[in-house]
Amino acid sequence: MYHLGAMAAWCFLAAIPALFTANPAGSSRSLMRYLLSDHRCPGCEIRKPLCFCAMIPRIELQTRVVILMHCFEQVLTTNTAKLAHRSLTNSEIRVHGRKDERLSSADLNETGRQSLLLYPSPNAAELNAEFVSRLSSPVTLIVPDANWRQTHKFVRREPALIGIPHVRLPAGPPTEYHLRVQRHESGVCTLEAIARAIGQLESPEAQAKLEVLLRVMVERTLWSRGKLSAERCVTAGIPREARGLKQR
Ligand SMILES: [Zn+2]
Repeated sequence: MYHLGAMAAWCFLAAIPALFTANPAGSSRSLMRYLLSDHRCPGCEIRKPLCFCAMIPRIELQTRVVILMHCFEQVLTTNTAKLAHRSLTNSEIRVHGRKDERLSSADLNETGRQSLLLYPSPNAAELNAEFVSRLSSPVTLIVPDANWRQTHKFVRREPALIGIPHVRLPAGPPTEYHLRVQRHESGVCTLEAIARAIGQLESPEAQAKLEVLLRVMVERTLWSRGKLSAERCVTAGIPREARGLKQR
């Protein structure tokens, strides 16, 4: 989760999801099997009748978004960074955290672009209209995608990130991501963090498109878990063909 408090610790993914808790690191193969099982859409990773791939926008931005994803996140169906990547044409995911494998630092500090690391360290500047008005070149926004502990360690130790200025999000509304237990009440998920940053750097319309996508994912997932009625899935509803699915 991304914590919005100025000095406080933050994380994109505040808690270890139940799925992962039940499958410690050694059983990542079983997680992968679960993820790739026939009943899930390989695109949006939800149960097939609930697929929302057709609702994933394709947004072209000047801002380049580089998501630095911890390898544990790769197999989690509740991960939202993958949706951000699918929505933003000018984005990529780089995975880190695997043993004996270094993160590629290529193009993280491209000439003619201003690289910014979305990480609320004590010296991070607030990413607001005034900050954006002072930028003289397009931005490469670097976004860690991991839990708080992993991100804190990663940012402190990763040589590829040295010298890249930190930015934090301005205070905003509470998260709409209710798929994992929140450790910080002002935390937001990676897709929300990217959406809010893009809202500052580019346009409120682009932000809104990403936030609608998150709502669809959250509502359908909660419905699938039996935690939200179909009537309350107001963003895109529950497809007729999914109504017969067993909720769990
Ligand atoms: Zn899908």
